[in-house]
Amino acid sequence: MTSTLLTHALVLTSDSNRPRIDDGAVLVRDEVIDAVGTSSELRGMSADRTVDVDGQILLPGFVNTHTHLAGTITRGLVEDVTTGEYLERIWPIEAMGISNGWFGAGERLGIAEHLMAGITTANDMFFDPASALNNAVDMGFRLFAGTVYLDSPGPDNLSPSQRLEEAGSLLAAFGDDTLVQVTDAPHGGYTVGPDQLWSVWNHARDNGLLFHIHAAESPEEDATIRDTYGRRPVEHLGSMGVLDARAILAHAVRLDDSDIDLLAQTGAAVAHCPISNLKTASGVCRVGDMLDRSVRVGLGTDGGTASNDYDMFVVMRAAAILAKNATRSPENFTAEEMVRMATLGGAEALGVGHLIGSIVEAKQADLVVVDTSAPHNVPMFDPFTTLVYQAGRTDVTLTMVQGEILMEGRHLTRVDLDSVVNDAVAAGREITAELSDGSGGRVSPSP
Ligand SMILES: [Zn+2]
Repeated sequence: MTSTLLTHALVLTSDSNRPRIDDGAVLVRDEVIDAVGTSSELRGMSADRTVDVDGQILLPGFVNTHTHLAGTITRGLVEDVTTGEYLERIWPIEAMGISNGWFGAGERLGIAEHLMAGITTANDMFFDPASALNNAVDMGFRLFAGTVYLDSPGPDNLSPSQRLEEAGSLLAAFGDDTLVQVTDAPHGGYTVGPDQLWSVWNHARDNGLLFHIHAAESPEEDATIRDTYGRRPVEHLGSMGVLDARAILAHAVRLDDSDIDLLAQTGAAVAHCPISNLKTASGVCRVGDMLDRSVRVGLGTDGGTASNDYDMFVVMRAAAILAKNATRSPENFTAEEMVRMATLGGAEALGVGHLIGSIVEAKQADLVVVDTSAPHNVPMFDPFTTLVYQAGRTDVTLTMVQGEILMEGRHLTRVDLDSVVNDAVAAGREITAELSDGSGGRVSPSP
């Protein structure tokens, strides 16, 4: 049994019963939070190691509800295009990446970046999910990932039945893991037809898996689903019967009132990715209307190719500012609400609010420390305001997942960050060389 006592912290718990503890302390035993209180309340408790947080902010780790980790290796490669053109150009490159083995370096770089930025959980969607799950286990990172379903062969060149076989293999390999979770991830209602969508939903239901899908993001998706089925994207998923509390819809930007009612009635959650939506000019998610109807909403960065980095501070700030403007109400979406959305809100959207997302006894010890002594963080009158409107990811000085400190003093403890970065740089050079041969990025996408 190992234990760590974090003392003299400004603890922001994301727990409504005791949201803030000045001069607080948290005792971690093995994987879980064993005690929470003031430093004086926990003074008599012993631990293998005591970390004096020295007045800095201690909060739950951020939960990134939608990303594509492997795509970290191709970020910046296809820019300034529509979502439709983006998919047309990136999928052939991704097919090359799978056959050339570039994506493992992207996954490890993405996980390293998450840990350095105080993100302790991510919900991933990419081909060859076993690779991402293995890298997450190796690096101690809490990852949700599963088979990506498409009607077309896709960059990984698998048939629908081969995809279900892959899902079975993932469950056999990772089904009992307490750190990572297997999901089902149909790409979207415009890339997965009714037959396969229905069989994936049944697979997710039978195995109790999260059903992670892009929905109501781009004009092209909207037009395709309207032309094919005569329905809006979320209406289409509802009519298919694949919306329930296990579903998490990435983006959910293009909605009317009845779509939001449908989310509320079915219990489906939303991964709100404001930076991605702004960069791809998709529109603005109606977060206020969703919260008014008690729809679960978490925050996400989206993948490296869509929004380039994994910075939940920027995401919180963008989400707050966008929602204030969308509702024309500066008093809405307080900084405290945004921190909750980036932590417990994300955990609830992934269906694991009982396990992670807040600092309460018996939950998994996923914690981060944010140093607020830098010039841009002082003076600090309200720590929530400082976190949302001033702090940045390089202010994170400690990241703990499942009771283990994985980053401390801006150094990763389990892996050599330099080698992760060097591998990614080398893969980037290979990609550049391969594309300069003339094939990549200009060949037709898979049918
Ligand atoms: Zn996405």
